[in-house]
Amino acid sequence: MQFELHKLIRDNIKVLKPYSSARHEFTGKASVFLDANENAYGSPVAENYNRYPDPLQWQLKFQLARIKGVPAENIFIGNGSDEVIDLAYRIFCEPRKDNVIICPPTYGMYQVSANINDVAIKKVNLTRDFELDVEGIMNATDNHTKLLFICSPNNPTGNNMNRTDVEVLLNNFPGIIIIDEAYINFSKQKTFIQELTEYPNLIVMQTLSKAWGLAALRLGLCFASMDIIDIFNKVKPPYNINEASQQIALDALQETVMVNKWIREVVHQKEELAAALVRLPFVKKVYPTDANFILVKVNDADTLYQYLADNEIVVRNRNKEVLCENCLRITVGTPEENKNLLSTLKKYQG
Ligand SMILES: *Cc1c(COP(=O)(O)O)cnc(C)c1O
Repeated sequence: MQFELHKLIRDNIKVLKPYSSARHEFTGKASVFLDANENAYGSPVAENYNRYPDPLQWQLKFQLARIKGVPAENIFIGNGSDEVIDLAYRIFCEPRKDNVIICPPTYGMYQVSANINDVAIKKVNLTRDFELDVEGIMNATDNHTKLLFICSPNNPTGNNMNRTDVEVLLNNFPGIIIIDEAYINFSKQKTFIQELTEYPNLIVMQTLSKAWGLAALRLGLCFASMDIIDIFNKVKPPYNINEASQQIALDALQETVMVNKWIREVVHQKEELAAALVRLPFVKKVYPTDANFILVKVNDADTLYQYLADNEIVVRNRNKEVLCENCLRITVGTPEENKNLLSTLKKYQG
């Protein structure tokens, strides 16, 4: 199958002449910057915050390139994964004409972003054991299907999608496949970011919000072919990543040893927590998980959710999601928090 990117891009984006910022137009050596109407006297908090940031975040991308083993030119950084998802819709999907496929139960933003962009959603539910329905996905695909979202490890179920299924889809799906790897750092599954040269129709999303502990900075990562990254750069707001986030993330990315220690600890805590949850009388099932959370089926999720909330413990009630009847999603906490959760659960008269 010949992949032709230009056939998937909206016409208005193909002819778009992007905004050219001051920092973009001048690239030579200069010491006096009178081109961007900034406050030349400084900023109240110093640190160069009076200047517009690098629109393409090269320092941050070079650092990410080293850590991820992917060229910096194949990386796009969004204001959270949310921005990457929204840009994908705006680049590829003609409102009221094109459609995308999602595989519930899954991350809610794919649908919200589709609704905001007035793009139709086709739902092909996961199978009973939370795997991709490959045949169902191919059958649901039509001439206007532009995107397929695959979340692996999946939120809220926690499992990895079968790799062969994903590869079959990468080889056969006629649109762009977005693999959301927000939880990849906790997973035994290998990332797909090393497969970008193999699959020109692949976009992989990761984030600094989970394992890296930077949810507040809003940094979503996107890995794709240079052709796709170029379009994202053309469509994004010129300064989508602020200077404070860029600088703090650069510092944070030095701390791989600390982060890897946390990841091992979370995985260990998760196994202990899962083993303890199974033993509770009102727990029907603890689903296998490769993420930093556990999906648990209980006898009555709404009541248990309220009981935990009354005890100042907040979990995520997924009872209303398809295939997640009476399920709660529980994030792995610190050893103390997990102990608190378990002792509270043991007192529950379910
Ligand atoms: C948490 C999460 C994200 C992260 O979103 P950010 O906007 O980067 O914080 C992305 N995808 C999934 C499936 C998630 O659960």
